[in-house]
Amino acid sequence: MDFALSPELLALRAEAFEVGRAAAAAARLTEDTWIAVPDRTFSLELAARGWLGMTWPVEVGGGGRTPLERFVVYEALLSAGAPMATSWFADRQMGPTLLQFGTPEQQKAYLPQILDGTSAWSIGMSEPDAGSDVASIRTRATRDGDRFVVNGQKIWNSGAMSADWIYLICRTDPDAPAHKGLSELIVDLHSPGITITPIKDMTGSEHFCEVFFEDVRVPAENLVGELNGSFRQVMRQMEHERGGPDRLLSNRKLYDDCLPLADRTDPRVRQEIAAIESGYRIGRLLVLREVMGQAPTQFSAATKTFCTELEQRIAGFCVAAVGPHAMLAEAGVGGRVARNVTYAPAYTIMGGTSQILRNILGERVLGLPR
Ligand SMILES: Cc1cc2nc3c(=O)[nH]c(=O)nc-3n(C[C@H](O)[C@H](O)[C@H](O)COP(=O)(O)OP(=O)(O)OC[C@H]3O[C@@H](n4cnc5c(N)ncnc54)[C@H](O)[C@@H]3O)c2cc1C
Repeated sequence: MDFALSPELLALRAEAFEVGRAAAAAARLTEDTWIAVPDRTFSLELAARGWLGMTWPVEVGGGGRTPLERFVVYEALLSAGAPMATSWFADRQMGPTLLQFGTPEQQKAYLPQILDGTSAWSIGMSEPDAGSDVASIRTRATRDGDRFVVNGQKIWNSGAMSADWIYLICRTDPDAPAHKGLSELIVDLHSPGITITPIKDMTGSEHFCEVFFEDVRVPAENLVGELNGSFRQVMRQMEHERGGPDRLLSNRKLYDDCLPLADRTDPRVRQEIAAIESGYRIGRLLVLREVMGQAPTQFSAATKTFCTELEQRIAGFCVAAVGPHAMLAEAGVGGRVARNVTYAPAYTIMGGTSQILRNILGERVLGLPR
């Protein structure tokens, strides 16, 4: 077996890294850029290079390229710290979901604006009392003629302030068992009755939001997939959400910048570097297995847990590497480390907490008793 990338893939990776590095040089932040750093101009550049919808079928305007090509491009962009949050959710999740569950009309309406980099999407799943337990979602969508009328509240919706659409999970049958009455709607975030309030996180960033819905009228044709059948679709979406390179490389650039500052005369530091470098390689193999479609169903729970716990370990390593500078909100690498270590707890919360993912691994992958 030859595990090396072909010369073409190596060239693609080098090109993507250069593009990412140039964009990162002008960005306000080079960590967590897939979720916290939107940039409409960069989204257009990704589209122009054919790097949005890379693996989608050519019939719908996609690139028809291999998952490995997409992986190579995004591994490089993420590692370079490129500002990707405008296009990321749609490219990773909403587009593939529409390809699988959307009607031809929906594909025609929404895929082109994802592919040309002009639309940004937010995920409307969590609620104040429904995070880990998706089945307890209470936001209601009631059918009224050719529309749904939506009332309720979502929370922690990344990028909602700067997005055009929210992909909403809501309750359409209040009388059905909890996980049987949910549906998915595409909602225009500029609709009357929507109020978006940013939430400031510990780092001072306001990338995630509360979104309130008051009698918001949504065309019935915006229902994606089966009425009251969203639970299965959500599970599929989570596979897109949990197994990708974004869960491994959020602070890769920071690690690369801190590594030369670490005291390698200390054997404990050398051991930590060895552990992290091994972790990156294991994580990369796990992610590759996911993106190539070779992982067991729901194994992305394990992939995400391993990779995000590594990201947290890296945040800690960077603190040790820069020493007291990690306590200062200063310009330069020290301030970046301070920000990252403050943000790092989020890695194992968003997209499913490590506790929940370990439950999934135990019950649904390993078949252990509940
Ligand atoms: C940075 C960030 C970005 C996010 N972006 C989005 C977004 O774009 N869209 C969106 O919809 N949501 C988003 N979220 C929300 C995220 O999905 C939820 O925070 C997550 O699912 C956990 O839900 P919760 O916060 O309600 O915590 P809870 O579900 O209340 O959990 C609290 C604690 O209890 C534990 N726990 C709960 N149930 C169990 C159980 N059965 N067994 C063991 N332990 C359990 C959890 O592990 C956790 O430690 C984001 C969150 C973060 C931090």
